[in-house]
Amino acid sequence: MSKVFKWLLIGFLVLALVFAGVFLLSPSARKSAQIKALDKIGDVAIKRMASDPSAEGSVAADFINIPIEARELSEGIFQATGVANAHLITTSEGNVLFDTGLSTQVPKQMKALKPHLGGENLSHIILSHSHADHMGGTKFWQETDTEIVTHQEYEEEQRYLTELQPYFWGRNRTLFPFMPETPPKLGLIAYGGVEPTITVRNGEPYKFAQGGVDFEIYALPGAEGADNIVLWLPQKKILFSGDFFGPLFPQFPNVFTMRGEKIRKPVEYANSLDVIIGLDPDMIVPSHKSPITDKSVIQSGLVKMRDATRYVHDAVIAGMNGGKSMEQLMVDITLPPELALPQEHGRVSWAVKSIWEYYATWFHFDKTTELYPVSQDTVHADLVALAGEDKMVIQARDYMDDGTPLKALHILDILGGDGGTEALILREAALEELLVKAKATHNNSYEIYWLNYKIRDVQAKLSAQTSENAE
Ligand SMILES: [Zn+2]
Repeated sequence: MSKVFKWLLIGFLVLALVFAGVFLLSPSARKSAQIKALDKIGDVAIKRMASDPSAEGSVAADFINIPIEARELSEGIFQATGVANAHLITTSEGNVLFDTGLSTQVPKQMKALKPHLGGENLSHIILSHSHADHMGGTKFWQETDTEIVTHQEYEEEQRYLTELQPYFWGRNRTLFPFMPETPPKLGLIAYGGVEPTITVRNGEPYKFAQGGVDFEIYALPGAEGADNIVLWLPQKKILFSGDFFGPLFPQFPNVFTMRGEKIRKPVEYANSLDVIIGLDPDMIVPSHKSPITDKSVIQSGLVKMRDATRYVHDAVIAGMNGGKSMEQLMVDITLPPELALPQEHGRVSWAVKSIWEYYATWFHFDKTTELYPVSQDTVHADLVALAGEDKMVIQARDYMDDGTPLKALHILDILGGDGGTEALILREAALEELLVKAKATHNNSYEIYWLNYKIRDVQAKLSAQTSENAE
């Protein structure tokens, strides 16, 4: 049994025992017992990640290594740092939270924020959206009279994310192999189950004043899902943006997610950016990483993100109307120099594909077979028999030599995942070449996660073949 697994097992045993015992306790004692158990689980998860070589150097590992502590962003406004930040806005008539972090980090974030609560009750929890890293602490923080404020679409997003949890978990674990094998299912830690008491609709901001502080909540669809809201404090001109901008600012938006969530809407996103430009924030506080306080960076970044999104969108529309193929548009559409933005999270060519499929869905009006459930894979073995595996490997190598690793991969895909040693070595070389190119161009973290996953897979097959040959 590996060390990591042992920690994990001990963590879950402790949790199971605590959960078995807590049913005899009062609700508040039960909650604090669960928080204690959760803290242990969180420590186990961090140790697991820190010791897994596949996490090394990845963006995800950077996030998990962010120390959890409270910092004061402005008078009476505190941020608990972590994988995702939780924010506390204090007032003399009750406190407000914006986002509640990842469940495994809740105990430490609560501990960091508690000294600043000032004995006030928690009047509102505002959730930027339904992703697990933004609502994990909600059930732990929630008091009897706490209002839970979300977008009107929150419950629908939470529903599909809950119902498809095994599918998402499997995909996430493929990209982030250091994650636990199964999602946490026990008690308050389990994903979902948040019941909003106040919902915000698109175009109808929800406003309230409390202890002299004005709160304005705007529904801004089109970003990470359909249920994004942001919190605006007009007196201080601070915008709490959740994941509206993603983990970087500015950047080309992620209107596509490799995890396989629902389509994101580019026109709505650009319109939502217009709303923020109108607010003219002095400080943007995203729920990942640090606040942005440079006014000129904020102003130029907002305009560039809006214009770049519209530029790509309009170029896809023009291309569709002009009869160009989706693949051609993925090559043709690039950002002009004045709109150049980092593509470490969102990528222009993937946005092109997303926008195309957002409008046209999956039928590309091309191959008849697209309409039926018999895929091209079903005749690959025939093609291999006709061409001969040796010739196909030679062809793949020629493509590699020509600097076209993607064509090499197409040939190798027809050959099938398991091919001979030579095919596997070529496949690894093609993937490595793509990885080098990915790092040298946009350094897109999802592209890198995916290529690393495929490289690990080939390497495992290669070493299985080597040990078979040795026997
Ligand atoms: Zn997030």
